[in-house]
Amino acid sequence: MSDTKLLGFFDDRGYMKSFLLKAWKDPVWSKVISAGLIFIFAACFTWISGLWPEVKSIVFYILSLFVYEVVIPVWALCLIVPFLVLLIPFIHSRIPDREPAFINYKADQILGIDWSWNWSKPNYHNDKYSIRDLYPRCPDCKSSLELNDYSGQLVHCINDDCKWKWQQQGNFENRISHSSTLNSKVWNIIDRKIHNGEFKT
Ligand SMILES: [Zn+2]
Repeated sequence: MSDTKLLGFFDDRGYMKSFLLKAWKDPVWSKVISAGLIFIFAACFTWISGLWPEVKSIVFYILSLFVYEVVIPVWALCLIVPFLVLLIPFIHSRIPDREPAFINYKADQILGIDWSWNWSKPNYHNDKYSIRDLYPRCPDCKSSLELNDYSGQLVHCINDDCKWKWQQQGNFENRISHSSTLNSKVWNIIDRKIHNGEFKT
């Protein structure tokens, strides 16, 4: 073999290798290849273990079912077809709706605080989306905020170097002095925003 021929041969092999690698990484081709490999291994195994005739007859039997002729009386068809048509709306109602747009609305600045949260999907106990893991952060330094009902100052930043102070919302009578009040106010505002379309994702 001359040098140039040899080079060409290696080039082809390189091309083949990159092609196979690409095919292996491709989601569809990798499945086809792995299914093929599994089939080859299974065939080798059954052939070695002497089960091949049985497996072959099972495969042929399954294939024969596809061309098996079934006699259905016309009256049965007349019953079955409307029944299937009536079944469609029922099946349709069983398929869950697509996720609402607000599912990606998971952070906002509300009452001067950066909040983040997650959504719980409707489940057996609750037929609506609900807010969970509502978490406050400092809008200045992004540290966690501590809610303390008894310190006289409900919200403060855990970062000692941070100068941020929460400007309590509302007038004196309306002041938020309890963490549960603050949380429920934030819940209400999120709820309002997802219903009037004010939210941004
Ligand atoms: Zn801070």
